[in-house]
Amino acid sequence: MEKRFVRAIFPGSFDPVTKGHLDVIERGRLLFDELIVAVGRSPIKNPLFTPEERVEMIAELVKDMPRVSVEGFDELTVEYARRKQATVILRGLRSLTDVHYELKLAMTNRAVAGIETVFVMTSAEYGFTSSALIREIASLGGDISNLVPENVVRCLREKVTQGHLEPHSVQ
Ligand code: ADP
Repeated sequence: MEKRFVRAIFPGSFDPVTKGHLDVIERGRLLFDELIVAVGRSPIKNPLFTPEERVEMIAELVKDMPRVSVEGFDELTVEYARRKQATVILRGLRSLTDVHYELKLAMTNRAVAGIETVFVMTSAEYGFTSSALIREIASLGGDISNLVPENVVRCLREKVTQGHLEPHSVQ
């Protein structure tokens, strides 16, 4: 069979990016010729970081990874994929709850746009890591250095110092 160039996108909110996301990027990138980490700009509930801040944190982390890039996007994920001529959506799975949600999303995306979703299973140590949990632990002054990269620890500390991250603002 003829070998085709495969470009994948890894869409998400990344508010903020965690070591779990990074693990998906590092393993997922080996499966494709090119991987674009795509930060959704569409309003999520009470985002902590601006889309630009989220893109910047990821850019620092992927700068030495060949064939991996990051950018923000506003439109529907499948529209964005089409515009970038990507044929695969990469997503990560942690739990059965993720499977339920992701299955629906993947089936819808295939039905409406014919795009395939490829899943990478989390490494066990990050099975419970989510951006929401990170925000919560950070707001309570907990140590999150095992779960997020160093540059994200710094950015989270800044948000706490600036008073943008208080326990009641976390959901
Ligand atoms: P979204 O709001 O689109 O779910 P997220 O930034 O929360 O965006 O997650 C993006 C993707 O990364 C999702 O597929 C999610 O399941 C996956 N993911 C998040 N955390 C982890 C983790 N610790 N291990 C593996 N996959 C993860």
